[in-house]
Amino acid sequence: MGTFTGSFKGFGVTFAHMFRKVITTDYPFSPPTPAPRYHGRHILNRHPDGLEKCIGCELCAWACPADAIYVEGANNTDEQRFSPGERYAGIYQINYARCIFCGLCIEACPTRSLTMSNEYELARDSRQDLIFTKKELLAPLLPGMEQPPHPMRLGETDKDYYVGALTNPGTSAGAERAPWSDAGTEDAASTAGAADARAETAGTLHNPGKSAKEAV
Ligand code: SF4
Ligand code: SF4
Repeated sequence: MGTFTGSFKGFGVTFAHMFRKVITTDYPFSPPTPAPRYHGRHILNRHPDGLEKCIGCELCAWACPADAIYVEGANNTDEQRFSPGERYAGIYQINYARCIFCGLCIEACPTRSLTMSNEYELARDSRQDLIFTKKELLAPLLPGMEQPPHPMRLGETDKDYYVGALTNPGTSAGAERAPWSDAGTEDAASTAGAADARAETAGTLHNPGKSAKEAV
């Protein structure tokens, strides 16, 4: 009797679905829009002057349960500065054949360098191409940004660079919210910039560079 009731309930679920509206997406011509907090492809963000937010600390790699991240830190010098701190990521790779998109790496990142986008079209023809290097992961340069290496441009001191942002928009605090992220962009100009940046980022996604995978 119990088995009969269970089967009846099971077929009831199937039967109920027969009358629900069919959802058909015309992929890839009309790709569906994921939820705002969808965990997609990672981005390595920049400060507003173009310097990289990543300081090569490797905390993301240690936090990753799938061993999908490889980082090698390198030292900044006054002549060759890639990030505001002492170190930057000389090598940064994420292996999307391993990544389970759990987001633990972005929680571990102390500088909000690493965030996740909504991009989900990550299929590639080979396993090698699923290893994204720093070149593919770095956020694009926006107007006003300068390609590193270069000195810090947002004031004379660390306080200017970081805390000054509270009273002086354009300095570093909050830079991770804009403009390639959907959150935190309220005025029209930054919204337009965000759209451009997302388009540019998407371009790098669909045409990933075939750079050498230095430390596979
Ligand atoms: S999302 Fe999870 S599995 Fe993917 S790189 Fe980050 S920590 Fe590793
Ligand atoms: S992405 Fe963040 S956690 Fe990972 S090495 Fe760079 S600064 Fe450290």
